[in-house]
Amino acid sequence: MFLELLNKTPAIVQWLHTRCSGVFIKIWFISLFDWFFFFILAAITSIKKTQKMKVTVVGAGNVGATCADVIAHKELANEVILVDIKENFAEGKALDIWQTAPINMYDSRVKGSTNDYSMTAGSDVVVITSGLPRKPGMSRDDLIATNAGIVKSVTENVIKHSPNAIIIIVSNPLDVMTYCAYLTAKIDSKRVFGMAGILDTARYKAFLAEALNCSPKDIQAVLMGGHGDTMVPLPRYTTVGGIPVTELIAKDKLAAIIERTKKGGGEIVNLLGTSAWYAPGAAAAQMVEAIVRDQKRIFPVCALLNGEYGLKDIYLGVPVKLGKNGIEEIIELKLNADEKKLLDDSAKSVKEVMNVLDNMNTVAK
Ligand code: NAD
Repeated sequence: MFLELLNKTPAIVQWLHTRCSGVFIKIWFISLFDWFFFFILAAITSIKKTQKMKVTVVGAGNVGATCADVIAHKELANEVILVDIKENFAEGKALDIWQTAPINMYDSRVKGSTNDYSMTAGSDVVVITSGLPRKPGMSRDDLIATNAGIVKSVTENVIKHSPNAIIIIVSNPLDVMTYCAYLTAKIDSKRVFGMAGILDTARYKAFLAEALNCSPKDIQAVLMGGHGDTMVPLPRYTTVGGIPVTELIAKDKLAAIIERTKKGGGEIVNLLGTSAWYAPGAAAAQMVEAIVRDQKRIFPVCALLNGEYGLKDIYLGVPVKLGKNGIEEIIELKLNADEKKLLDDSAKSVKEVMNVLDNMNTVAK
């Protein structure tokens, strides 16, 4: 019908010219152009909608299943594949999540698989959560040997079936497992990074919002360093509705919040007997969202440093820009001497655990 109208356009214009004023013709042309642009926009939108996104989450335990649920709920992918080594576990979790679709009104198709990576083929993003969680009294580093073996074999399978995927590591000890996945995947480090900073920052913001009795939405903050007791919260870069946090809270209260944040993971382990999953799962899903929607969001992410902050060949939490290409930029803050010392101390302790992995010879360098 639109084409028919276009064919007839000269005749219609002639008719309008003889009968109507020039102003009327101009208005008619403007509305014709409006329609034209409307059709172009509709075509672009429908092409975008048909670009299929596939996300795999390995490990259908607490964190993995929560992450897959958030991804599906937010419709971040057309297909969400959940994989676990435990027989029928991922299938059961996926079926349960999929059955929330008619209630929560989404279309993302969630499927489970027992260690069959052919189902994950062609994934755009893969989140690796497989591994043992911490038990009370256990440090993240105690997990290294077991989880390195798991992360290595999972990464090999992932990269074999999805060579172009962006890989997000969640398994602990986070910084070192991310390094392990990077050595195994042998792809650009911009496509292999870890989730910890968003979770640690969320804990810090939640404690601050509670203390200030304000909305967590208004708090902006950044944490750096390793995922553990040596993490580096930066009060100088914390604002509440644009106001420096130091103007709103007493020094000792802020120091107590920083201490609580550093031990935030352990606090949950002591309460639950295992590590957290709602916030970690949602944090990993937020990274997936930034990538599949090319949001260019600035998040603290565990990234491989190559001279940034004076550090080299180390995976450490730093602010980055996340978009469709993975890490699109590592942002270098101008740290003062105290902050730089804290970051260097954190890097030193992460490097020690990285050396433990190197000495185990689990993955070739
Ligand atoms: P979980 O025990 O509930 O789930 C882990 C799942 O991994 C299990 O279902 C297990 O069967 C599966 N698994 C083990 N080996 C596998 C393999 N080879 N292939 C596929 N699946 C395998 O544990 P969780 O609470 O979900 O925690 C998962 C990991 O995430 C742990 O290492 C935990 O320490 C870590 N974690 C990290 C953060 C973070 O901030 N980075 C936060 C919380 C938890």
